[in-house]
Amino acid sequence: MHVSRRVADLPLSMTLALDARAKELASAGRDVVNMTIGEPDFSAPAVCREAAVARISSGDVKYTQAAGTPSLRKALATQVSTTREVQYTASEIVVCHSAKHALSGALFCLIEPGDEVLMPLPYWVSYADLVRLAGGVPVPVPSTPDCRPDLARLAAAITPRTRGLLLNSPCNPTGVVWTRDELAGAVAVAERHDLWIVSDEIYRRLTYGAVRALSPVQLSDAARRRTVIVDGASKAYAMTGYRIGFAAGPAPIVDAIARFHSQMTGSPNAVSQAAYEAGLLHDPPEIPKMAAEFEKRRDLVMRVLAQLGLTAPRPDGAFYAFPNVERFLDARGSMGFCQDLLEAQNLAIVPGSAFGLEGYVRLSYALGLPRIEEGLRRLGLFLSSRRPTASKR
Ligand code: PLP
Repeated sequence: MHVSRRVADLPLSMTLALDARAKELASAGRDVVNMTIGEPDFSAPAVCREAAVARISSGDVKYTQAAGTPSLRKALATQVSTTREVQYTASEIVVCHSAKHALSGALFCLIEPGDEVLMPLPYWVSYADLVRLAGGVPVPVPSTPDCRPDLARLAAAITPRTRGLLLNSPCNPTGVVWTRDELAGAVAVAERHDLWIVSDEIYRRLTYGAVRALSPVQLSDAARRRTVIVDGASKAYAMTGYRIGFAAGPAPIVDAIARFHSQMTGSPNAVSQAAYEAGLLHDPPEIPKMAAEFEKRRDLVMRVLAQLGLTAPRPDGAFYAFPNVERFLDARGSMGFCQDLLEAQNLAIVPGSAFGLEGYVRLSYALGLPRIEEGLRRLGLFLSSRRPTASKR
């Protein structure tokens, strides 16, 4: 049987080999600290879990509308209107199986063959593959040395084929939250060149201190008209396994995503929709507690990385740190660094190359403080065993 050309070259995940090796070492009895984790180590809020159980017990678990239940769309419209301070109606919301599903739906409905899509580096692992799958051409745009958006380079990356801009603030893998000026600069580029914007705001709820993540839609009416927001329950509500998210944007594109998904997946999961809606309506107390815990961990990670002599962009959101390890790399780059680290110290982290950017590694702090401390201790041991080369920065 022949696998279509569209999918034949699609990688499962660049980090799969590392993950498989980490599991192999753990099952052989080694005490592996896993800092590759991309999901909160907290349970979904009680009110969401109870709503899921109640929905199953009711027996009313049937297909729903392709765009999601009217009540969840309404609750999401209210939530988006409140949090982004711009009015959205239910007809501008489409419920999806996850943020990834919303993202892929949006890209498939926006991209024509050969369209170029700008994505500031480093970018979340799936962006480039999804753009390619949709027939587009991913165009990674270098950022500043501290991984902040470089607006001059963004403007310089424009060609006659550029159609879209993919933004992610707070960012996975850096935790960087774009400032109003940075966002306004990117929006200005989009307006000058008539680009659509897909704004992945899945970590919006997880920011620290006084920092708040802004959406392009908050900047102007014109920006709102060219933006599709992608968000969901996975990170904010620690509901990764429920697989539920949404896209918000102009009604014609939202309608297109719903029609597309009606053919691909039918309708979103009815149980997860009920659970998400309960979370939106009750504003569970677990959420700020989780964010406060992540903030404590972020502070610890940044303090220890500095003690180890590593620089990293300041993560004001999400639950990752992205230190520069360039001077410790050999010809195998960040992947070789991570492989050696796993073998020598039983510490699993993700190479920067998975996010399109060599010279860095991503550490997740979605694990308890004692394990984070242990992981960082092992990182320190590894670095001191590895001779740094002259700094290239
Ligand atoms: N966008 C970013 C930046 C992510 O980090 C993730 C998950 O890791 C997603 C989207 C996907 O979220 P979901 O689990 O809702 O598909």
